Amino acid sequence: MTQIPDLEQLLSDPLVAALARAEETAWFSERPTPSAAGIEASGIDPAITDDARARFRRFAPWFAECFPDTRATHGILESPLTGIPDMQAELGARFGTDLPGKLWLKRDDALPVSGSIKARGGIHEVLQVAERIAIEAGLMAETDDARVLMTPKVQAVLSEHGIAVGSTGNLGLSIGIVASELGFKTTVHMSMDARAWKKDLLRSRGVTVVEHEGNFSDAVAAGRRTAQEDPSVWFVDDEASLSLFAGYSAAGSRLAGQLASLEVTIDERHPLFVYLPCGVGGGPGGVTFGLKQVFGDAVHCIFVEPTHAPCMSLGVRTGLHDAISVADIGLDGLTAADGLAVGRPSRLVGEHLQQMIDGYVTATDERMKAFVGLLHDSEGIDVEPSAAAGFAGPWRILEDEIYRTAFGLDDTALANATHIVWSTGGSMVPAAEMAGYVAEGQALIGEVPWR
Ligand SMILES: *Cc1c(COP(=O)(O)O)cnc(C)c1O
Repeated sequence: MTQIPDLEQLLSDPLVAALARAEETAWFSERPTPSAAGIEASGIDPAITDDARARFRRFAPWFAECFPDTRATHGILESPLTGIPDMQAELGARFGTDLPGKLWLKRDDALPVSGSIKARGGIHEVLQVAERIAIEAGLMAETDDARVLMTPKVQAVLSEHGIAVGSTGNLGLSIGIVASELGFKTTVHMSMDARAWKKDLLRSRGVTVVEHEGNFSDAVAAGRRTAQEDPSVWFVDDEASLSLFAGYSAAGSRLAGQLASLEVTIDERHPLFVYLPCGVGGGPGGVTFGLKQVFGDAVHCIFVEPTHAPCMSLGVRTGLHDAISVADIGLDGLTAADGLAVGRPSRLVGEHLQQMIDGYVTATDERMKAFVGLLHDSEGIDVEPSAAAGFAGPWRILEDEIYRTAFGLDDTALANATHIVWSTGGSMVPAAEMAGYVAEGQALIGEVPWR
């Protein structure tokens, strides 16, 4: 681990000082990097996105056969895009400013198979590993319908292999469900904050769940260690995996198709703002990479984190990336936002994608929960607290004049804007637990400061 510069020096940056006090923050890019230059600077080959899309297409017949909730899309894992005008009006009234343009919700909380954004990245890596093993065994061709993996011959081979992952919950859920269905010996290392229902669900599917005392990074480290000891085990590395990233990035062109079908124009004069809850960064980073390929400079991607675990804001702002953890500035990393309780950002995303990320916003747990309550009351939609984090973003853009000026976001452009809050999880949460989130959120609506 590299040396951390002394704390006093770090805290001389007012933003880092605010992060250290667990305050809500907003920090936007001061000048645009053309998206083509950003993609180039990332060093990541855009071809991984089309490759992931093609893989999902090859696996569609397999999903349709194995997962009944994917039949309605013939095996393609995708979520609806929904306008939320009542939530937009409600938030406008609370914040005391109407949001120009239109507010939408991208319902990854309703993604089939595992009910969170991890159904994009986590599942993609498992599919890629299964294919590779079957191809190497001479039992599958690159272009084959993936149902060949269900044949006894391939099943015998896959059952000799293991998949391991360290997770705060949702990644383990996605990988565990699909890897066990494919016949892998599957082990999920869970951090202490993981919910009991996720562990129970995985165990019911034959997945080995190992519980760790520590946090997310400890669970990942434990998973990595066991996989290193056994070459037949593939370790899904949430902190650095390109395959996970590729799976998330496939969302970009899919979203473009959805917007086009709804007659929504996106160009420089009709900007698109996307608000993405950020944990380790792979999910929002991959989606951003996919969106910038499709929409270029017309899309603005804003990452949203909990005030107690702002690892991406901290890593990018200090330039230390995964060499600094939120604990280094005295934060406990504890949050009710599942999937976002991460102390150290992905090596892949902060360092390689920073020129593509337009802004970093943090929100308190209380605010995320209040958004859950408001969304329930105004739209009848229930999501988990982490999935509501994105609502902290849109009004911050209105406040930041430097950003708006630098990016040419005048009143006309803002009036034409499309704002998409990416709702990242919720549909698998047991009803009683969800009712608890909603009730707690409703109680907090009157407590959190809105102006
Ligand atoms: C994992 C997760 C995220 C963020 O994804 P990262 O790749 O960790 O940044 C956001 N929301 C939910 C519900 C998640 O499970």
